[in-house]
Amino acid sequence: MPDATLKDAPAGSASSAPAPLVTRFAPSPTGHLHLGHAHSALAAFRAARAKGGRFLLRIEDIDPARCKPEYADAIEEDLAWLGLTWETPVRVQSRHLADYRAVLDRLAGRGLTYPCFCTRKDIAEAAAAPHWASRTGPDGPVYPGTCRALDAPARARRIAAGEGYALRLDMAAALGALARKRVPVLAFEEEGRGSIACDPARFGDIVLARKDVPASYHLCVTHDDALQGVSLVVRGADLFAATDIHRLLQALMGWPAPRYRHHPLLTDAAGRRYAKRDKALTLRSLREAGHSPAAVRALAGFPDP
Ligand code: GLU
Repeated sequence: MPDATLKDAPAGSASSAPAPLVTRFAPSPTGHLHLGHAHSALAAFRAARAKGGRFLLRIEDIDPARCKPEYADAIEEDLAWLGLTWETPVRVQSRHLADYRAVLDRLAGRGLTYPCFCTRKDIAEAAAAPHWASRTGPDGPVYPGTCRALDAPARARRIAAGEGYALRLDMAAALGALARKRVPVLAFEEEGRGSIACDPARFGDIVLARKDVPASYHLCVTHDDALQGVSLVVRGADLFAATDIHRLLQALMGWPAPRYRHHPLLTDAAGRRYAKRDKALTLRSLREAGHSPAAVRALAGFPDP
């Protein structure tokens, strides 16, 4: 259902039959897939297959400066070679910007976002001010909130003058809105670890749309997981902290919360995590070097049963 739009209500709650497990692999086409990606994709694929569930592929390409269509094609080719199959059509995020815009509009309509005109330099300078220097979140320095203080006429004037702006979530207002709706303490279910309490406030006023990119990863990923009925998110441990933000957005939008499985990142023999710079360990170069799909599955931590 590629063109469906997401309403507030959790999908599939009317039927009494248990919903099938739905997992996904959601790469950004910024380079060729490496063994770390193969690990993630196989983990999600096998989790679905083990339970007779569904496996989806989603291309997260909202950043036009970093993503290339040829990498998206290569992702599909490499995953198919590796032996994975997925449902079609594949959701390609850049084709659904209106969906993300609608979410931003709804949050704005509730007074939960504000335009931020700061440049990188403004932010670095403000964050380095002595009274603020201690605020560092999981993603680095926390935005000190300069533009939150602008009044409506000042915002309107700067927008009318053509100044570029990002949209930020007003974290205090968002948490206030949840408290008023009596949403209990936010938490997510991590497989094998149980309920993990969230503390999204430590991120500060996160960016939901950048000046040059119409929506952020956090917004698109949570929207699409809900739209596509993903019930188990399998991904690397590097995204564990970001889950606090995802739970916050799910709670604000009334979207269902999937379960999560953050797997340890695959590392090379020297203990370094795989990255796009490791050209020799892309699925493409392993294939060209004569490795079989089964051999690469084993290298990625999933030997055939
Ligand atoms: N697109 C993200 C990435 O490539 C992954 C998103 C996710 O699995 O939540 O890092």
